[in-house]
Amino acid sequence: MKLNRKKVLVVGFGKTGEAVCDFLLHQGAHVKVSEKKTKEELGEKYQVWTQRGISIETGMHNLQSFLEADLIIPSPGVPIIPELIEAMARGIQVISEIELAYRFLKGKIVGITGSNGKSTTTTLTHKILKEGGIDSYLAGNIGTPLISFVKNSKPQHIYVTEISSFQLEYIHMFKADISIVLNITLDHLDWHLSFDDYYTAKKKLVLYQGQDDIAILNKDDPFVWALSKEKQGHVYAFSRIDKVPRGLFIKDDWIILAGDEEEKFMKTSEIPLLGPHNQENIMASVLVAYLLGIPLSKVKKSIQTFEGLEHRLEKTLTINDIEFYNDSKATNVDATLKSIQSFKNKIVLILGGRDKGGDFTKLREPIKEKTRAVILLGEATEKIKKQLKNTVPLHCVSSLKEAVDTGYSLAKPGEIVLLAPACTSFDMFQNFEERGRSFKQEVWDLKERTGKGK
Ligand code: ADP
Repeated sequence: MKLNRKKVLVVGFGKTGEAVCDFLLHQGAHVKVSEKKTKEELGEKYQVWTQRGISIETGMHNLQSFLEADLIIPSPGVPIIPELIEAMARGIQVISEIELAYRFLKGKIVGITGSNGKSTTTTLTHKILKEGGIDSYLAGNIGTPLISFVKNSKPQHIYVTEISSFQLEYIHMFKADISIVLNITLDHLDWHLSFDDYYTAKKKLVLYQGQDDIAILNKDDPFVWALSKEKQGHVYAFSRIDKVPRGLFIKDDWIILAGDEEEKFMKTSEIPLLGPHNQENIMASVLVAYLLGIPLSKVKKSIQTFEGLEHRLEKTLTINDIEFYNDSKATNVDATLKSIQSFKNKIVLILGGRDKGGDFTKLREPIKEKTRAVILLGEATEKIKKQLKNTVPLHCVSSLKEAVDTGYSLAKPGEIVLLAPACTSFDMFQNFEERGRSFKQEVWDLKERTGKGK
């Protein structure tokens, strides 16, 4: 791909947009940015990049800029805006950042996608590979954009890359040497036009792979497993429920490696992370390490020392024998479902935020079975209240402080107060990280007030 003197439009100017601009400038392209934020909101970034020779339109997207471009690169998370549709209709090439990176990158790619569990699995896979002596790099949303690695990439490098459906929407030649699809559930319907569009995007990670590439697929998820029939080349499976012909499965509390023979790998009770969903993430990561020849004894050690990520079922504190957990990253119904299933004891659940079109009725039965009460916060309160009517007591609150205090007053010793909102945070916070940090701060403050935490 020749970029020298090409007119390239980068849509969106976050971390990925900036990394793309840097790469394009080094390639001699004429770069323009189209960004919805205003010049003021961009702050000093605006000056820095205009001084480097980039022109930036702010506060709006101008159709003319799209139609003048030879190539358009939308950042992850930029919706399918009319300007993009019009440009594509006129035959202008639109590619994502990973597609651009792929055209120039030396080295192998492990691509990880799914509705939930991408960051956890990507981080764990990278940890296992690194500790297994492989020249591994953590790329994508959770790490550094793939494009930033291109310059120093080498054939022996392995790029463990978290890949969202946004990134897959605009790929054409991109393919991973090893792909993982963890699960496909309704998510981001606020961004994709329908479940079909979302599914089509996710599928590309596997269906674009060639004969020699490997797909690691969740056999327990019907949408994911359907890909095993369409994929050419090798498939490895993981399952919590069923035996698999080749891959990993769980039987009698053992994770078992299935190939020509069956081999016990480790006990599920030795896994430090909570929840059945993390067993799935771990099995997917282990299969990558196995395929790359890392001894299983080393792999096991890496798993046992993995503490999980902040804001994903993160234990905050115990106050008066009541445990507080921060799962602020549970921004959809399925993640919340998994979160609830991770505890044996009763839960007081904090739900709410900005709705992504979620079907909260799916939580009715698990809520009846596992929770003592539900606390509702944020924009989605009324919708959730309707959908969870006649399940358990529902308490509406107006701040996270009130949510934590109410949770503490309702939970009994031995029980859990869990923030797993099933919604995004954007109604009240900058992002899920800020929501999670605020929750933890409220819990720490509660500990100070009660003098009873540990
Ligand atoms: P992603 O990067 O896909 O958003 P994360 O690892 O950040 O995934 O986890 C997001 C949320 O989903 C967290 O609430 C986490 O507890 C939950 N989760 C993690 N792994 C899975 C999985 N395999 N299936 C369902 N939910 C999961």
